[in-house]
Amino acid sequence: MRVRSLLLIFAVPAVVVASSCAVNPATGAREFSLVSEGQEIEMGRQADPVIVAQMGLYPDSAVQRYVRDIGLRMAALSERPDLPWTFRVLDDPTVNAFALPGGFIYITRGILSHLDSEAELAGILGHEIGHVTARHSANQMSRAQLAQVGLGVGMILSETVRSYGGLASQSLGLLFLKFGRDDESQADELGIRYMTRMGYDPRELAGVMTMLSRTSQLASGGGRAPEWLSTHPDPDNRSQSILDQVAAGDYAAATTVERASFLRRLDDMPFGPNPREGYAEGDIFHHPDLAFRMSTGGWQVNNQRAAVQFIAPGGNAAVVLTLEGGSPEAALQDFASQEGVAVGQARRETVNGLPAVRAGFEAQTQEGVLAGELLHIAHGGNTYRLMGIAGGQDWPSVAPTARAIQGSFQEERDRAVLARQPHRLDLVDLRATLSFDQFRQRHPSVVDPVIVALINQVEQGGSLDRGLWKRVVGQN
Ligand SMILES: [Zn+2]
Repeated sequence: MRVRSLLLIFAVPAVVVASSCAVNPATGAREFSLVSEGQEIEMGRQADPVIVAQMGLYPDSAVQRYVRDIGLRMAALSERPDLPWTFRVLDDPTVNAFALPGGFIYITRGILSHLDSEAELAGILGHEIGHVTARHSANQMSRAQLAQVGLGVGMILSETVRSYGGLASQSLGLLFLKFGRDDESQADELGIRYMTRMGYDPRELAGVMTMLSRTSQLASGGGRAPEWLSTHPDPDNRSQSILDQVAAGDYAAATTVERASFLRRLDDMPFGPNPREGYAEGDIFHHPDLAFRMSTGGWQVNNQRAAVQFIAPGGNAAVVLTLEGGSPEAALQDFASQEGVAVGQARRETVNGLPAVRAGFEAQTQEGVLAGELLHIAHGGNTYRLMGIAGGQDWPSVAPTARAIQGSFQEERDRAVLARQPHRLDLVDLRATLSFDQFRQRHPSVVDPVIVALINQVEQGGSLDRGLWKRVVGQN
């Protein structure tokens, strides 16, 4: 969760679903389309702030500029140069990249940390540009999905419902459209087209696919989840078909790789989850940046930018923590002013030495009556809303645990927790070739060797030539 309060209204206007037959700009094929270009742009424009609020922007403006410049130059050479092209680096540790209709393209710091050259980055951006120019995401938005987006908005009578049961992530999920194999091959083809127009070596895109394939194998062995793969299937075969395509084409002039200059930009980049933004350890959730801790009550923690959700085992109840403006009283009033919400008598109390206001509430929603209890706590100049919420029938049975979670909120005083920092990439400049094992011994990392090999795109039994290589440093 970020310091900034999020009162985000996901106000997607009712999209008028009109169908038309149009020529696909990138492929030249005539096709049936449900969405006009104007609607396509509007979809992207509406969803962009939701993505940014939920996932957060990577704060390094030099990296943002670098990615944006390459993306914009490539998009200008595409068949749809006039879209409002937008390229963003998200502050997210997962290995992911995706495009929204209308030219909004996102890559995570997680995928950046796994890339080996500027040409690989250009390959990823080119692939995502391809999804947009070929109108994959726009065409994928079926009537049903559009209707669902509309429904989602209708249900957002407030933060209450949006936060409850992860509705926010559901809306996001809609935007992470899963493309079929044909769309993926086409995006790879277009990615090669765009990256080579900029002079980048297209074989580097095959390297990206190999890295993604290894990431997925690691994940299937219990490692990290490769988000990109949930929307981009079969990197294995794609690596080979990219190489085949390159061999069959005339790309002799496309030779730019830019390995060293790219890698230098990654020096000191956070690697993996950033504990400063909150983490659970055992039954305690810690937030070093906001200096609080609380018990999870054994409930599952879902730490998002906009809110921390503690979700009951049955999924029928939650405690949702958000940052609000004003005093606890003002934040409660704000809540009470929402349509369909009835708030009971407010009671002042002290929670672990912190001033607080408690009140019960009920909310009428399209899904029925929700009930719960609000605890607003002032701490460190902020007001925290801890909303216990469940279906009206379920609230009495979950209330004791929800109250225990709410009431456990307290100032974090553990200095080690407050000082906790993320792991970071550190670039090592080798003067001579080393075996992978020698590299690990002389330049140790705090992560598993299999991860070190993966992010350097080398084999564990292999060797590292002179030049720049990544390791991961930080507290264990
Ligand atoms: Zn794709």
